[in-house]
Amino acid sequence: MFALIDGNSFYCSCERVFDPKLRRRPVIVLSNNDGCAVARTAEAKALGIKMGAPMFSIRDLCKREGVVVFSSNYTLYGDMSRRMNTVYQRFAPDIEIYSIDESFLDLTPVAPEHREELGRDLRTTVSTWTGVPTCVGIGPTKTLAKLANKIAKTTPQLGGVCDLTSDEAQHEWLPLVALEDTILVLVRSASMQNVFPPVVDWLVPSMDRSRRISQESDTSLATASDSSTPRD
Ligand SMILES: [Mg+2]
Repeated sequence: MFALIDGNSFYCSCERVFDPKLRRRPVIVLSNNDGCAVARTAEAKALGIKMGAPMFSIRDLCKREGVVVFSSNYTLYGDMSRRMNTVYQRFAPDIEIYSIDESFLDLTPVAPEHREELGRDLRTTVSTWTGVPTCVGIGPTKTLAKLANKIAKTTPQLGGVCDLTSDEAQHEWLPLVALEDTILVLVRSASMQNVFPPVVDWLVPSMDRSRRISQESDTSLATASDSSTPRD
């Protein structure tokens, strides 16, 4: 049984921690060399700024709408990631760091009726101690936990936690996940397990592939190639 906890608009949230004036303002963080947007707050998304949008194509929009634009600061994001993982260890001793803003927690020892409550405590504690908002997905496999996290992120009434432990919950929520999200999660999962490498190589976009290669060669946090991967 796993929980996947994921930082919301992670790079932007890290920038906001150190400048409270940025709250409720549209913020984006750019990729290496300031090429394109790799993180956007909800306010920036509402302005129509797409993930990966080239900076030259949104420069006028950003000026007009007062969007705060940051160059990426990998040192800061790596440090915040380490702080968050320190908090996770208080809730579950067995943690797998999946990316700079995503970690799997093994919830096997936690009683079923306490899993969702633990997810809510986890979110609150991380927010209080680090200032970074998160969402938590819970499921019997890592793939289902990842899909649960997607649902938690896109369904405000869930309050940031989605538990897909039961068959009933899976039947209720899985049909609502966008097909493209499901395919991407399954492909990433297969990629992690080295299943069907030729198919994975064909399907996974190049930025995602660079992250996979970085994970294979170095499981430590916050490598430069990982950090340039889009972070929602
Ligand atoms: Mg994220």
